[in-house]
Amino acid sequence: MSYSFDAFREAIGGDWYADDALLADLVARHASLEVSERRGLERFGAEVAGPLATLAETSARPENAPRLRAFDAWHRRVDEIVLPASTHEALAIVAGRERLGALHGDPFAFYAKTYLAHQNGEAGVACSLACTDGLTRLLAALGDRDEHRDALAAMRASSGERVVHAAQFVTEIQGGSDVGANAVEALPDGGAFRLHGAKWFCSNVNADWFLVSARPRGAPAGSKGVAIFLVPAYARDGEPRRNGDDARRNGYAIDRLKDKLGTRELATAEVTFAGALGWPIGPLDRGLPNLVDHVLATSRIACVLYAAATLRQCERIVGAYARFRTAFGRPIGDYALVRGTLDDLGLARERALAVAFELVRLWPAKDGSAEAADFRVLLSLAKPVITRRASELAHDAMLLLGANGIEERFSPLPRLYRDAAVMETWEGPHNVLFAQALRDLVRLRVDPEAFAARVSGRSNDPLAATVQRLLDASGREADAMPGMPALAAAVVDALGDRVLQR
Ligand SMILES: Cc1cc2nc3c(=O)[nH]c(=O)nc-3n(C[C@H](O)[C@H](O)[C@H](O)COP(=O)(O)OP(=O)(O)OC[C@H]3O[C@@H](n4cnc5c(N)ncnc54)[C@H](O)[C@@H]3O)c2cc1C
Repeated sequence: MSYSFDAFREAIGGDWYADDALLADLVARHASLEVSERRGLERFGAEVAGPLATLAETSARPENAPRLRAFDAWHRRVDEIVLPASTHEALAIVAGRERLGALHGDPFAFYAKTYLAHQNGEAGVACSLACTDGLTRLLAALGDRDEHRDALAAMRASSGERVVHAAQFVTEIQGGSDVGANAVEALPDGGAFRLHGAKWFCSNVNADWFLVSARPRGAPAGSKGVAIFLVPAYARDGEPRRNGDDARRNGYAIDRLKDKLGTRELATAEVTFAGALGWPIGPLDRGLPNLVDHVLATSRIACVLYAAATLRQCERIVGAYARFRTAFGRPIGDYALVRGTLDDLGLARERALAVAFELVRLWPAKDGSAEAADFRVLLSLAKPVITRRASELAHDAMLLLGANGIEERFSPLPRLYRDAAVMETWEGPHNVLFAQALRDLVRLRVDPEAFAARVSGRSNDPLAATVQRLLDASGREADAMPGMPALAAAVVDALGDRVLQR
């Protein structure tokens, strides 16, 4: 019997902007686009569905996984990260030509493109975008030295010919959530510092600029003593040549690449600093708040967008398969349980994208305003809920393709499923963000009635009573925290439904 999957493959479509009515609606609602920006979005929709999808599939093959080449042929330590040509090509388009690592133009159009790019789940590109976005925002807000300005200008000038991007190294072997326990030490050296010690999870280690958290010698213990530094990847004596034999790393060694469940196209390393030159960003004793406000907030939005994009891709693939595949003489999409999963996927995806756009809208709010408090709280609630849903529903999506869902080359679903687990952990595991949200509700004196009304668009919303109950219990961790996951899910649903005008 001859059996063809062509109809299924064609139904996945060749333009992921044109097939996404909700995305177009949200862009139209929020963005004020120049004609060129609109055309750019339309063009990008076809590019992500075509050449970029093919590049992502190539980069994801096990034989193309990033490699560490520690020494060159003359026994010189080079610590080169060897990436496949497909990753370089995708970076050149997305981080270079499109410059999706440094905000420019209309923010809604910018993040709409980011969401489109993330639908390929190419973590070697996605992580680069998130880290570069975070560092450029930080430097734009706090940069006050020539080195800061140089790095910012270089990243903003990233191009297809020369991609310039960033990474951020905070997590240490003894723990990532408790940044106040950081032990990497920074020793003063003129107006700069020299960094010593080890970082444990360093993604996009092939970047040009690193943001590194470290404790200046003599600084107090705990989070007050953690400062943040701009660290160039390569030594500054002479023009560094990336991936060239004579490129000398700036006083650190890449010890090992992680062997990860997901985001396997992305080089994540263990790194030991031994005198790397770096320049502090912002006041030394404000490192952690500045890291959270400018860098971690950006990465958490990236996680939400990545999860929304994962849901969109699952919805698209499963929708096409449900129309194509028959079992017992009927398209599987006719079965109530299959329809149920499709409905769950569609609803979760719409809410996720709506919440992502709402976060982008609230992001620039001024400190002290209700909107700024909402942004902090909503981001901490949305990241765990939406990334968890992406994991759960990517799992369900795979199963709807039956055995074909498990085959790595049949669709990107196995890869998206593995990456989804990383989005849950990276930039703050769920519990840590729930705890942060509760602390912010208390610290920012958020009024439960007003908060619930802003989230849901309704007065007297029952969310208010839940928030009040958790605030009343906030001094008793064991009473308050178990209620946070349910509150977070209810907030995401109510906010998503308000934006979607359900
Ligand atoms: C693929 C990948 C790439 C990464 N890339 C980077 C990178 O580039 N740079 C970087 O700095 N880090 C990176 N990380 C690390 C990531 O940010 C950390 O894993 C994360 O911050 C959690 O730290 P941890 O793994 O040490 O877990 P821990 O902090 O040890 O937490 C362990 C568990 O305890 C729970 N827990 C901790 N505190 C609390 C609390 N107060 N209440 C309740 N539960 C709590 C957590 O929820 C978690 O489940 C990466 C991680 C992955 C998986």
